[in-house]
Amino acid sequence: MQKYKDIGLKLTPQRLAILDFLDGNMDHPSADDIYKAVSVRYPTMSFATVYNTLDSLREKGYITELTIDPAKKRFDPCTKMHHHLICTSCKRVHDIHADFLLELPEQVKGDFRVTGNHIEFYGLCPTCDKGHERRI
Ligand code: ZN
Ligand code: MN
Repeated sequence: MQKYKDIGLKLTPQRLAILDFLDGNMDHPSADDIYKAVSVRYPTMSFATVYNTLDSLREKGYITELTIDPAKKRFDPCTKMHHHLICTSCKRVHDIHADFLLELPEQVKGDFRVTGNHIEFYGLCPTCDKGHERRI
């Protein structure tokens, strides 16, 4: 994440803590996760501060909002195009930085100029997979 220039918000210590938490974070945290983590140091911080900061960062393109978890929005400070591998049990999300040669057939794509894609792979991570085997 670019270092905090022009996020369109006054950089209070609390907002800086949010930015620091997000910088290089690969856990794809939800607003709630971020709130919990940062409020350890800033107990008076409100959830609205977290939410508004995330909203500004997203608007400016510094973070991506992920809709892969229907229960909650999650955020990704890595805005480079990449794909995700999602554990359906523990909801952990892993990044996949690889190119897959996916072509839409001409009759589907029409005049649409495709500039990217985001593929979500679902499954069980090794930890959850082991637990699953034990239960059977
Ligand atoms: Zn898992
Ligand atoms: Mn990601």
